[in-house]
Formats: sequence, C-alpha cells, structure tokens
Amino acid sequence: MLFSTEPKTSLDELFDREAEIERFRSGLNERLVLVLGIRRVGKSSLVLSVLNSLGIDYIFIDVRKLYDNVSRKVPAERIYNELRMSLGNLSFWEGVRRIIDEIDVSLGPIRFRLSASRIRDGIAKILEAINNAGKHVVLILDEAQYLRYSTIGLRPLLAYVYDHLRNITLVLTGSEVGLLHDFLGINDPSSELYGRYYHVVELRPFDRGRSIEFLRRGFRELGINVDDRVIERAADELGGIVGWLVYFGRLYPERGVDAINEVKEIGANLVRSELEELFSRSQYYRYIMEAVAVLGRAKWSDVMKYLMARVGERPTNATLSRDLNNLVKMGFLTKDGDWYGIPDPIVRYAVLR
Ligand code: ADP
Ligand code: MG
Repeated sequence: MLFSTEPKTSLDELFDREAEIERFRSGLNERLVLVLGIRRVGKSSLVLSVLNSLGIDYIFIDVRKLYDNVSRKVPAERIYNELRMSLGNLSFWEGVRRIIDEIDVSLGPIRFRLSASRIRDGIAKILEAINNAGKHVVLILDEAQYLRYSTIGLRPLLAYVYDHLRNITLVLTGSEVGLLHDFLGINDPSSELYGRYYHVVELRPFDRGRSIEFLRRGFRELGINVDDRVIERAADELGGIVGWLVYFGRLYPERGVDAINEVKEIGANLVRSELEELFSRSQYYRYIMEAVAVLGRAKWSDVMKYLMARVGERPTNATLSRDLNNLVKMGFLTKDGDWYGIPDPIVRYAVLR
C-alpha cells in the first residue's frame, strides 16, 4: 500500500524512483555506496526494496535508533548488540553460528563494560566471519551520520572492511549530506578512508507533478475519491517529501481537508526536536533558518541584513558563510546559485511557528 508508514520493503510498493533503483543496483558491485537525501525522502525504502528484490543477504543497522539522547552518544556495545541481533536473518546463519557464538563468549556478557577497543575488535571478528562464509553480504548503516557520536572510532573499521573484506559491500544512508562526507573523511588526507572510491545515489523530493500523481494513485488504491484541488493544495503545502505525503494520505479519510494542517502541526512537532538539537550547536543557526523561512528564499546579504536587525549584532562574514555552509551540508538548507532555500516545507513551517 502506497500510504503505509513503514519503510517499503518491496519494489512493487515503491512509487517512481526507477533511475535511483538502477543506480543503487549498479552500486552493489562497489565497495562503498552512499545513499543521500533528507529525512523521509525514501532512503530506507529504496535500499530495502532493492535488496529484497535481488535476494542478496544484508545486515541492516539503524544507527539513529542506537543514539542515546541523554549521553548524546552512540555506545559501542549498542552497535555490537544490534549487529549481533541482525545476523539471524542471514541465509547462511547456521554456517557461522558456532564461530560467532565463540566471539560472544570471548567478550563475555557485554553489560560488564568492556573497553572500546575490545568491542571494536569483536565487531571486526564478526564481520570477518561473515566475510569468510564466502557469500556477498551488504552491510547497511542507516542514518550513518549518527556514527560520529559513536564511542569507538569506526573509520578504521570501515576502512578495514573496504580494503580486506571483499564479500561485504558497505551502504551508508544519511540525511546530513556533507557531514556524512565529513564523518567518512573521504576528502581528508588524515582519514583512513581518504581517496577511496564511493558510489553515490542521491534521492531528491518529488517534483509537484510526481507528488500529485503519488497522492492520486494512493487514494485510488484506497478506493477514495479526492478532489483534485485538495490534492494540489496538499502537494503545494507539503512539498515532495514522500513521508509527509504518506502521512496526509493516512489522515485524509478521517479528517478531510484539515489533514493538510494536521500534517503540518504533527510534522512540525516531529522536526522540532531535530531543530532544537541543531540550534544548540551554533548561536546563529536559529536566526539564519528564520531569515530564510521568513523571506522564502534569500541571498547571503539578505541573511546578514536579517541577522543584524533581529539579533542586533553583526557576525563576521566568515562566521555567516561557515554557518550557511554547514546548514547546506546538513540538508536543512539548499543552495541554488546565490539563493538559499528550505527544502522541507514542514521545517519551514516549524521555524516560522
Ligand atoms: P527515509 O529513510 O529517507 O527517512 P523512508 O524510506 O522511511 O525515508 O520513507 C518515508 C515514508 O515514505 C515511509 O512511509 C515510506 O513507506 C514512504 N516511501 C518512501 N519512498 C517511497 C516510494 N518510492 N513510494 C512510496 N512510498 C514511499
Ligand atoms: Mg530511513
């Protein structure tokens, strides 16, 4: 069903994305694939649907789920446990079970806090065992930008997999486009992954026509007749991020047209914690986002003017440029020529509220 809120897991549930499906498929012969796009645009759905259709073994780790809001860390033992739990689905699990049980035993109950290096060692051993089984396996680190909060340095481990465990293809998904690059350090000579080739699949929001088509098809599937004007308004106000369109499709049968406002309200609440976390990282982020939200789209000089009027002080040019750049890297802003914009209308709505 098009309006199901879980990530899609099969290609016949997936709307559009033919080019991205093909691009992802061809990447599976490479060592490292990055699936990039803002949240709710359909990254997990793409990855899971394609892998299921090919019948390739995969290990799926949702890194965001491992993030601990209190310590603001991704604890190493959570990574180990999550990896360990996900192995049961492998087609050759029985063949590696004994050796992996031994690794478990050698680490002891993980609750007796082990040093980070021992846990990393354990993870490496598990991956070696998987690799040595001789079958192609895809290791997916979903929302991998959260790995930068990991309590163990994972870059050396990923570099080890990249260089030596040739049966394992690494797939990292992430909304924070630039930070993913920063985490991997692909362009940073001091990074273990420096200079490695990687294959990029970029997912963009649907354009207006696709969004409208998506909603029409979803309602047809439900056997519900919805006025074209409502569908167009929903597409205009919610934009082309499929997660919000799904939400609207779910609420419409109960709420009618009000569902548009409700998605905005609920959506704004959902993104608010992301925004608060963001705003805590630099004093100007809040006002920069506000400037672009108020103006609809804005040039560097517009943002500077807004900040001076709003905050009553002038950041240095370098500070403003750096902050704008970071917001683009994190996917909160887009840059088109000289113009900055907010790609997610719900984020814009949340900032203005
Ligand atoms: P992401 O991983 O980028 O956050 P998800 O894959 O979780 O996004 O998708 C968000 C929502 O949109 C889910 O409800 C999912 O079922 C739906 N969805 C994503 N891509 C598609 C698609 N191509 N066709 C139909 N529904 C989709
Ligand atoms: Mg996802």
